Amino acid sequence: MSAQPAASLWIDGAPTEGQGAVLAVRYPYTGEVIATLLEATPAQVAQACAAAAAAQPAWAALRPVDRARVLSRAAAIIRDRAEDLARLETLDTGKPIQETRVADWPSGADALEYFAGLGPTLTGQMIPLGDDWAYTRREALGVVAAIGAWNYPSQIACWKAAPALIMGNAVVFKPSEETPLGALQLAAILAEAGLPPGLFNVVQGGGAVGAALVGDARVAKVSLTGSVPTGRRVYAAAAEGMRHVTMELGGKSPLIVFDDASLDDAVGAAMLGNFYSSGQVCSNGTRVFVQRGLHDAFLARLAERVSTIVSGDPLDERTQFGPIVSPAQAGRIRAAIAAGQAEGARLVCGGPGQGAFVPPTVLADATDAMTVATDEIFGPVMTVLAFDTEAEAIARANATIYGLAAGVFTRDLARAHRVVAALQAGTCWINAYNLTPVEMPFGATKMSGLGRENSAAAIEAYSQVKTVYVGMGAVDAPY
Ligand code: NAD
Repeated sequence: MSAQPAASLWIDGAPTEGQGAVLAVRYPYTGEVIATLLEATPAQVAQACAAAAAAQPAWAALRPVDRARVLSRAAAIIRDRAEDLARLETLDTGKPIQETRVADWPSGADALEYFAGLGPTLTGQMIPLGDDWAYTRREALGVVAAIGAWNYPSQIACWKAAPALIMGNAVVFKPSEETPLGALQLAAILAEAGLPPGLFNVVQGGGAVGAALVGDARVAKVSLTGSVPTGRRVYAAAAEGMRHVTMELGGKSPLIVFDDASLDDAVGAAMLGNFYSSGQVCSNGTRVFVQRGLHDAFLARLAERVSTIVSGDPLDERTQFGPIVSPAQAGRIRAAIAAGQAEGARLVCGGPGQGAFVPPTVLADATDAMTVATDEIFGPVMTVLAFDTEAEAIARANATIYGLAAGVFTRDLARAHRVVAALQAGTCWINAYNLTPVEMPFGATKMSGLGRENSAAAIEAYSQVKTVYVGMGAVDAPY
């Protein structure tokens, strides 16, 4: 099985071979090497930034409809090639094809379509000032350094590229070293759709390559999707150059289930919010707070439904649950499960598993202080915690450094809205979980990050306002 791209990087409109270290890309299900890439050297990162900086002014000077047309064409190409792209995404990430067909590239295409539609509608303000007046121009930032995590590589690339490009920026994208293939496809698709050279570049490598990119003097904005420790480092580095940032980081999100909730809906959401993509989703509701009256029934129904999850070959369309992205990550997840058990949590189902697979795992009888309740695991591990009152659930849900997402299940509408208003999270769901359509803002509070992706809110993150004061009369100088 080979997924070898034409070249490892994409610089200035062309596939370009890397000149750095070897990067072996493995299919997580078998461990087989499916592509061998070469990382970018610091000189190649600089070359990509130079190409972006050179191409950006002419792109920003186009009419928005002309930029939008490129994004629309790219979305159409993605939809035409949906099956091939889903297959490549599965090889790159190990996620089941039944997921990559509906979630990854399709959501990327949604973003390209959405921002193609929105961009040309944006206008500035006219501010009357007596005889004088002022107006605003929303202008591009320049070169955007975009850095991705490994769980949704192509979606992340599209979610960053679409708003950046529509606002007239150029992008240098560095995918995660674990999943480097999708971004190269996006570069080729954008070029085919008519994007001029230099506006979307791809460099490969790990943290050092990312750091070189963030530190390039031509970069005006950094958009990172990754963990909190990486976010702190990247935010600090970006501050040196007073660069704009968007930080989409990790979480330990609460999902609060009240006694009056629909049991099956709550269980279904908890499963989706912990086991989709084998649990490798930033916004997962990994702390499931269940009110005492429903607690035992919830655990029983959960165990019953988890036992029916079909795990196996990701390319088999019946498979619902795939391997973990890498042996190293599987090892970290196993260590977290073992720590939880050592601290006294009860294993309801799942466990360490073997090889590339960690099965859907539920830990019950947990307390808030246990590491399985405090630390992001980024794997298929759900921690269930019992609670008694609404006020207690809110206080415990908020007692975390993270603030990415939260969910509430109840049939009491007033309570649902009261609780989400009190929860410290960037995105909340009521009687739903983990749905992130492009039309709504997505982002975080507290240590989980800042800035918003998707929706009209992303426009703010990829542009800046220039104010122009227009003097209409004589200058009244007191000198
Ligand atoms: P990571 O932090 O290890 O790496 C993220 C990216 O940053 C990678 O491309 C990596 O090479 C790069 N990087 C690492 N050090 C860097 C540095 N010093 N300078 C510049 N770039 C650097 O994260 P990961 O393991 O790839 O992804 C999992 C994490 O991402 C989890 O914490 C998850 O919650 C988070 N995540 C968040 C969102 C969101 O939207 N909030 C979405 C997906 C994943």
